[in-house]
Amino acid sequence: MDTSAALFERAKKVLPGGVNSPVRAYRAVGLTPRFIAKADGAYIWDADGNRYIDYVCSWGPMILGHNHPLIREAVEKAVKDGLSFGASTEREVEIAELMINMVPNIEMVRMVNSGTEAVMSALRLARGATGRDKIIKFEGCYHGHSDAMLVKAGSSAVAEGGRPSSAGVPIDTAKDTLTAQYNNLDSVASLFAQYPGEIACVIVEPVAANMGVVGPNPGFLEGLRALCDKEGALLIFDEVITGFRLAKGGAQEYFGIKTDIVTFGKIIGGGMPVGAYCGSRALMEHIAPCGSVYQAGTLSGNPVAMAAGLTQLSYLNSHPEVYTDISAKADRLADGMRQAAAESGANVRINQVGSLVAPFFTPDSVESFTDATKSDLNKYAAYFEKMLASGIYLAPAQFEAMFLSSAHTDADLENTITAVKQVFSAL
Ligand SMILES: *Cc1c(COP(=O)(O)O)cnc(C)c1O
Repeated sequence: MDTSAALFERAKKVLPGGVNSPVRAYRAVGLTPRFIAKADGAYIWDADGNRYIDYVCSWGPMILGHNHPLIREAVEKAVKDGLSFGASTEREVEIAELMINMVPNIEMVRMVNSGTEAVMSALRLARGATGRDKIIKFEGCYHGHSDAMLVKAGSSAVAEGGRPSSAGVPIDTAKDTLTAQYNNLDSVASLFAQYPGEIACVIVEPVAANMGVVGPNPGFLEGLRALCDKEGALLIFDEVITGFRLAKGGAQEYFGIKTDIVTFGKIIGGGMPVGAYCGSRALMEHIAPCGSVYQAGTLSGNPVAMAAGLTQLSYLNSHPEVYTDISAKADRLADGMRQAAAESGANVRINQVGSLVAPFFTPDSVESFTDATKSDLNKYAAYFEKMLASGIYLAPAQFEAMFLSSAHTDADLENTITAVKQVFSAL
């Protein structure tokens, strides 16, 4: 038994399923999970000393690669001044000013500790500000694990568990969550027609990256904006993945669309637990202590987490070439994978938006969750296992993205494409 397997045996005795987040258990690929010992740049090492090229990147945060020296130094410096004060610090003002500078259409920021918390709070704000209870989300979009969002959610555990929602979510909570089809404006319009004046907001991943990767068709996001305006509902972009990844200003900049509330997570913490929700001053001043929408956090704006996030965002702000670089790398990877599919005759679709890439094991184009579920999950599992054996670390589940970082080198991409060619041919 290798070290990872031994650790997993120990873990299963004390952690449900041996993990602290379901996808890490590798159930979707039927394997024993790797335990990670360390990571640097584009590489991670498991507990047995095997090195992999990492396309998980902690599910997105590590856009500059692992163990970036500037972020590490900022954290080390912050630690020396104390880990938490439960009071305000200059760094929180600084990161908010920077975010407002980088992201279009936001005037105020509230920091929280995770993407889940950001979304949960953004929904409360939307409901508080509109005085309406119902929300529209899209099938296959994942917005964290708050009760209201565990309805037809994406991301591996929920999607592959075959359950539309989680046990433990009250029917009365779920009944206010209406689901529409991604890339299908009619499905949204008909919900508005069915519940006139009752819908507080539409929440969407502007690029759906928790059902593999599915980009918005031309007109889809514009159509959502127009429907929300017409119906007096707020539009929420959940940019926990796309924020500071598609562009400095996230999806609003990338697609040229204005949203009312935007949620962030992942990249904003530079690898530390951070989330944020943002919007106009008028909207954000509904939040306590200005307004009547309550939301608080003992560790919100934590000084060490802020140091990591601020350093990563500042770097991205002053190095816009990171964005052209990582999307060029993703182009190259996606093209290489498409070529591999064509040469091997494998029925694989490669979706890509910016630095997000995902293969689907189906001959048909994938534009919705229904399309995504046509992917052959056994093939994904076989692909994952062979890639891992070739030293490439991918998401251990179909309904996730591949994340590129500025640390991935041309040689890493070449090695990955070579492995993909062999694996696709063997499938
Ligand atoms: C990861 C993710 C979340 C949840 O963030 P956590 O930090 O895991 O709570 C919410 N929305 C989207 C789009 C995500 O990808």
